[in-house]
Amino acid sequence: MRSALADIRALLPIIAERRRLFAETVLWNLVAQLGILGIALGLALVVGRTVAHGDGIGAGGAAALAALAVVVALAAWRESWVSHALAYTLIGLLRTRVFAVLRRGLPERRTGRRTGTLVTTVIGDIETLEWLYAHTVAQMLTAAAVLLISGIVSVSITPALLLVWIPLLAAGIAVPWLTSRAAARRAASLSRQGAVLRSDLLDMLRGLRELRGARALPAQLARIDAATRTMARTQVREASRVGMERGIGDALFALAAIGAIGIVVLTSAQLDPALAPLAVVVSVAGLGPAAQIADLLRGAATLRTAAGRIRETLALPPALDDPPPEAREAQRPRAVRPDEEGLVIDAVGFAYEPGRAVLEDVSLRVRPGERVALIGPSGAGKSTLARLVARLWDPDAGSIRVDGRDLRDLDTAHRTAAIGIVPQSSPLLRGTIRENILVACPDASEAQVLAVAEQTGITAPGTGLPRGLDTPVRENGEGLSGGQRARVAIARALIRGPRVLVLDEATAALDESADAAILEVLDRLEGCAVLMIAHRASTIAAAHRTVALAPR
Ligand code: ATP
Repeated sequence: MRSALADIRALLPIIAERRRLFAETVLWNLVAQLGILGIALGLALVVGRTVAHGDGIGAGGAAALAALAVVVALAAWRESWVSHALAYTLIGLLRTRVFAVLRRGLPERRTGRRTGTLVTTVIGDIETLEWLYAHTVAQMLTAAAVLLISGIVSVSITPALLLVWIPLLAAGIAVPWLTSRAAARRAASLSRQGAVLRSDLLDMLRGLRELRGARALPAQLARIDAATRTMARTQVREASRVGMERGIGDALFALAAIGAIGIVVLTSAQLDPALAPLAVVVSVAGLGPAAQIADLLRGAATLRTAAGRIRETLALPPALDDPPPEAREAQRPRAVRPDEEGLVIDAVGFAYEPGRAVLEDVSLRVRPGERVALIGPSGAGKSTLARLVARLWDPDAGSIRVDGRDLRDLDTAHRTAAIGIVPQSSPLLRGTIRENILVACPDASEAQVLAVAEQTGITAPGTGLPRGLDTPVRENGEGLSGGQRARVAIARALIRGPRVLVLDEATAALDESADAAILEVLDRLEGCAVLMIAHRASTIAAAHRTVALAPR
């Protein structure tokens, strides 16, 4: 439970960024809760006095109670408004922060965090914080006030009342406390199951066509079905626990009322009979905070995994940050030594997992205007090297330099302008081909876009794209052939006029003549150093030089 609260506590400081809304939430909650308590105690007093002394309530008292009821209604309305404004503003802030972490690129190379888990964190987990920010923190403060006032009123009627509701208060908190570990385990398991289910669903939706073709869909659906059923069983067990706890909570309220009546009877000799109803009401009201604390414990169990995952994501190391401003000096134009021109990979070493090197002491240079084919058996680390040139990760040893500058010293804008990467499968977004090219350079002119479209054959008659740049692209590039996708990906990499171009099997989906046409385009790229990861003989033959990467 300690670490659950630590994870939740870690999400509280953000409240300070919206302190005015928080203060208003506390204020209106306090007004509403104390107002309700005041009305309950006032009415109890009226009943007591009417029965005991027959003097009931005067017009002034009735007006005061009615006014208090109006105040309570207004305060409750305002509190609900500001507490949700607070919660959703904070959720928005947190989501932006999680996005900022993800935008830097997923820094982890080893944990294999699945997309479904990230989707769960960004959407599901953060939503669950609504409960924390809108219904918990401010309410705990007001619960303390209600508790204090109930205690004072009880003692002033007869301290014997404390003998009734303090043990019940303790019991009300102890029950959820005792079951909170099991609840947290169940909530964690549910949350994990949910994340796996989302990941499996995403996998299935991504590969729907292939799965259907391979008749594998029923098996995948059965898996999802089984996961859903397991989740439902866990949820039912959890609902039964919550129901039992609520039942015990309600029983405690009843016991408080019965106990208070017992105390009234036992102390009737000294007690003003007008205070009898008040004694019962204040004992029951004193248990209100217990119910709130019980809710907190119940909620904490559910929130624990979500809070932990959000905290973990926010704490991901700032992976490949841009260099500090003082290092930007290094990006000023300067003369490049001839032996440093182009792409230099210098004694690079890299491992996804400690002790299992994928690349070791790899050195190679691609001069401006040169085309080098990188070959090697499957798993030798060719794509890994391409990812290091894209600075998805930094090498563990050695360095990668472009025109004499270490990639680590270039900021993102300079680096992405200098290096064009065409990965094995380039992500295509919903929109048009033009929009997909502009992703790499939103302020490129129409003339620039037309030039790369022409270079890569997008606007050529034989490529099956009669609408050219206006061809619609559906989610994940649906609607385009493999070759058409490759052309868009290459155009996207060329739009900024890179000094270095890395193609990771980028033309593998093209037929030989289209492949040759693209290679010709590359040939005309003036002064660009081109590194081509290739298997196909014609691509290798079109290179000026071949470098083989040996498997580790
Ligand atoms: P291919 O020609 O089949 O594309 P490759 O030479 O490009 O292969 P890489 O994709 O670079 O090879 O993979 C090199 C090694 O690193 C492989 O053993 C692979 O299993 C491993 N590897 C690749 N990506 C990861 C990753 N994200 N996490 C852990 N290991 C990885």
